[in-house]
Amino acid sequence: MDKSSIQKRITKLRSEIARLRDAYHTKNAPDVTDEVYDSLTRELKELLQNYPEFDDSNAPENRVAGKPLDKFVKVKHEVKMFSIGNVFSAEELFAWEKRNLKLLPNLQKQSLDYFCELKFDGLAISLIYEDGKFARGVTRGDGEIGEDITQNLKTIKTIPLAFEAPYPERIEIRGEAIMKKNVLKKLNEENEKEGKLLFANSRNAAAGSLRQLDPKLAEERHLDFFAYEIAQIKGEKWQKYVDKHSLKHELLKKLGFAVDVYAKEVVDSKDILNFIDKISKVRDSLDFGIDGVVINVNETKIFENLGVAGKDPRGIIAFKYPAEKATTIVKDILINVGRTGVLTPLAVFEPTLVAGSRVSKATLHNMDQIERLDLRIGDTVVIEKAGDVIPKVVEVLTRMRTGKEKKFKMPKTCPACRGSIEKKETSAQIREISSGLTLPGVPGGTHTIQKSREFAQMSVAYYCSNPKCPAKNERYLEHFVSVFEIYELGPKILSRFKDEGLITDAADIFTLEKVDIAPLERFGEKSAENIIKEIENKKHVSLTRFLWALGILHVGEETARDLAEHFGTLEKLIFSARQDLAEVDNIENIGPAVSKSLVVFFNDKNNLNFIKKLKKNGVVVEKAEENLAKRNGKLKGLSFVLTGTLPNMSREMAKKKIISLGGKVVGSVSKNTSYVVAGVDPGSKLKNAEKLGVKVLDEKKFQNMIG
Ligand SMILES: [Zn+2]
Repeated sequence: MDKSSIQKRITKLRSEIARLRDAYHTKNAPDVTDEVYDSLTRELKELLQNYPEFDDSNAPENRVAGKPLDKFVKVKHEVKMFSIGNVFSAEELFAWEKRNLKLLPNLQKQSLDYFCELKFDGLAISLIYEDGKFARGVTRGDGEIGEDITQNLKTIKTIPLAFEAPYPERIEIRGEAIMKKNVLKKLNEENEKEGKLLFANSRNAAAGSLRQLDPKLAEERHLDFFAYEIAQIKGEKWQKYVDKHSLKHELLKKLGFAVDVYAKEVVDSKDILNFIDKISKVRDSLDFGIDGVVINVNETKIFENLGVAGKDPRGIIAFKYPAEKATTIVKDILINVGRTGVLTPLAVFEPTLVAGSRVSKATLHNMDQIERLDLRIGDTVVIEKAGDVIPKVVEVLTRMRTGKEKKFKMPKTCPACRGSIEKKETSAQIREISSGLTLPGVPGGTHTIQKSREFAQMSVAYYCSNPKCPAKNERYLEHFVSVFEIYELGPKILSRFKDEGLITDAADIFTLEKVDIAPLERFGEKSAENIIKEIENKKHVSLTRFLWALGILHVGEETARDLAEHFGTLEKLIFSARQDLAEVDNIENIGPAVSKSLVVFFNDKNNLNFIKKLKKNGVVVEKAEENLAKRNGKLKGLSFVLTGTLPNMSREMAKKKIISLGGKVVGSVSKNTSYVVAGVDPGSKLKNAEKLGVKVLDEKKFQNMIG
């Protein structure tokens, strides 16, 4: 980007961030998630670091968000309420520490003492106590001026109305008003029954409840309060309690406040990481929402010496857990040619961090998807990556457009071979999530809800019609050797053999000889021998594998197995596909899309010649034995999902075992799954299983089951 585009981008980011902040803090109605907001803010911060000439201390990002509402009495904070900066990775955390240490040249140590605590997902509040009695409670507002919500706060049972002696004459306490998960769940259930709108999260619910004019309504919401800071305290003898952040927590507890029980003093930044890791493991089981961990420089004197940068004190930082959503700019849309010749558009973007990994591209599946999203090259988009799921583009932030975005058009010819393009209709299962849908005109403000729906949709796919297309061939070769389990032939070796003219198609692999390979640079006798041996060993193949390897449209491993079991021999299947359509149509589990593609495939002379060539070159297709296991096996009718690494058994072994006993192995967990076999590092499939109440087996239980 040139300088003027960067300036324009900064202006766009500023105005969008300001709009979102207003929606979030003033109206309690975020129309995007926090993750999107964080991601945009992060991009702006990075741009300003590289181009400080565009920095502006009056810009909205340098002000604390949240305008006080007119309906409440406005109060000026005696001590300004700052906000907290964010870091998203260990590297950023270390950089934060390094910057701070540089500002403290007289420090004797290489590290600082810290106090780590949970970052509650709620509404920040200031409480003033005079003569031991609760005198006033104020929202953060814009940090300088907040709203007096004392009457509403008095309804929260975890805010003491009076202290037991001894207490300081005057004290200002800060903390977070939250709604516990079970309370929120119940409230949403009631709202749903009454046809009211649902709260998206605990923060929204707490904020919405406390900003009701009628305290009775606030009382019904059963909020809670956690205290974490003392902003000021009167009286000489009380000063020792504010020397350290950890001591403040102790005093707060003594005064009768609920404080974070996980909070901990740590001695260096590595210890911080341990804390972050520990909390990430208990996070889901907490009965309130958190969105990260807060790290304070523990000693108040050092904290104050570090000062404030913009709107954030330097001595405190929030570590946010990896977001499953992030924003980025689509730099280009490229076309991938798959082994079936299908052209798949691929979005290429500025690398961005999602769910802990850097992502730079995502498949867009097909043209319909691009049109549904109204995605253009140059757009700012929201990408999502949950667990081990592949990243996808879920939304276009159209407000970030500059007018220079370009619409994408499918090429008229194949980008790999210039062959002509054919259009075909296919059916695809689509899951659409509309999150953060705002619905105005509701008493108490605007709330957000989440909706998801699933539907089958016909879509148009584009195919390269050239059977000799090199892109198609290369993908197909890779698919073929992986199904035949010829592990010695990786993609690089395959393309080398092609370049050397040793192979033109997959059937040629079986004619390779040692003398062909050994003289090639970087190969030699030994590796040539290994390759030839492996190919020899893999010439005998089951009908399932053979059908799967052919790369017939819509025929994956499971479908290939169903076909093999039904027909028994390749000849019968070919005969049926060429003559007797009815039989292909009537097989269990086989839909019309598959039977149609079988007919097309086996009526193409090129494909029949390829099969002939494979056989001539020594490939032997084993007759499928009548599957007794399927009829009588002890796992008959059961379906399994495998996830994680089993300690003593490879995934492939477990799969074979299940199939040999008549069970089925499927890729994703649904409520129809019988068991999930979970090893080490199981990932999102285990979570899904727990959510859906599917039984989970560890290796031992699985071993017992299969005997
Ligand atoms: Zn092509």
